[in-house]
Amino acid sequence: MLIFILNAGSSSLKYQLMNHATHRVLASGLCERIGIDGRIIHEANDLKTTTDVDFPTHKEAIEYVLKLLVEGKQKVIDTIEHDIDAIGHRVVHGGEYFNQSVLIDDSVIRKLEKLIPLAPLHNPAHILGIKICLELMPGKPNVAVFDTAFHQSMPACNYMYAIPYEDYTEHKVRKYGFHGTSHSYVSQEAAKLLNKKDSKVIVCHLGNGSSVCAVKEGKSMDTSMGLTPLEGLMMGTRCGDLDPAVLAYLMEKKNMSANEVVDYLNKKSGLLGVSGISSDLREIMEASAKGDTRASLAIDIQCNRIKKYICSYAGVMGGVDAICFTAGIGENADLIREKVCSGLEFMGIEIDKEKNKIRNSNTREISTDTSKVKIFVIPTNEEFVIANDTYNLTKA
Ligand code: ADP
Repeated sequence: MLIFILNAGSSSLKYQLMNHATHRVLASGLCERIGIDGRIIHEANDLKTTTDVDFPTHKEAIEYVLKLLVEGKQKVIDTIEHDIDAIGHRVVHGGEYFNQSVLIDDSVIRKLEKLIPLAPLHNPAHILGIKICLELMPGKPNVAVFDTAFHQSMPACNYMYAIPYEDYTEHKVRKYGFHGTSHSYVSQEAAKLLNKKDSKVIVCHLGNGSSVCAVKEGKSMDTSMGLTPLEGLMMGTRCGDLDPAVLAYLMEKKNMSANEVVDYLNKKSGLLGVSGISSDLREIMEASAKGDTRASLAIDIQCNRIKKYICSYAGVMGGVDAICFTAGIGENADLIREKVCSGLEFMGIEIDKEKNKIRNSNTREISTDTSKVKIFVIPTNEEFVIANDTYNLTKA
């Protein structure tokens, strides 16, 4: 079954055409600067091209991608109509409506529209992507796969904020959590490696956006992102956990509106804000190695936060069988993994420094033979989760 996977953002579109049976990606790419001017980076048949194309709206971008799939040097299928079986959409916010992926119909679209206040940047773009696919590829099943769905299993004591209860009942203010497809995939892979049904796993998804998740017996018990992805770990440009009074203080001191402060905490903070160098960890590690103290501080804040979450989640679950590292930083930055795990030996977490340094793109164990808690590096595969859920909901 060939599945077209779409991740529609406000001015960009990421896509893949995947063969579900073989996991093979036939084509993939990114349309950027939609509504501004337009550019497409497209890869197929071992050929990667970057082309400036005018994309006034998402519709022109998707039309262009579909054309590339069936024409020219990067052609991978004969016709859209016969060769694409289903479309899987990444949707950031499913609110409390969705605790698993769903086949999209009018009622699903209406619910996504109702959720726009909770994800004002993301959900409108996803809805647009879904409507364009329904128009350009009529009759094909579309599936929504949510970042939040996996976390709907959290108990109320973990998802409720300690503010008046009416803010939850009237305005849906609560922790939702994100990166659910990644946490679900990685924790399942870890459970297979542990070969234990009642496993307690902590997944550290560390990329530009980062979150930690406590997974007990395959279910999300708690996670570090909140109502929005701003809460929790320090990230590339997001501040993570913060005294909420900082907002009012900054509004007054810097003469900013509430929205401007939230934007500042989302886009100018985190690794970028503390280091003053970059949101990209590689550049910060380079600067730190050359003696830049703010770069070193940024790394220390990030690692300490991760460590605190690991300890608190082990406490909440009453133990931990495995710590998993995934995403760009988690999979590649041995320094971060070592700093996070060092000092946690008292909990039975012992990293093998040599195994940790080995670089490859496979799932691997990096704990010592005597470590009570296993430490794994497990490459995430969010697109595969989307393809798999799409397959399961649409197979005949
Ligand atoms: P996104 O959240 O955008 O999907 P990624 O999962 O690709 O992000 O992670 C991006 C982060 O991973 C960046 O901070 C980047 O510096 C970091 N990263 C990627 N490769 C390496 C590496 N070899 N060593 C250290 N950090 C890396």
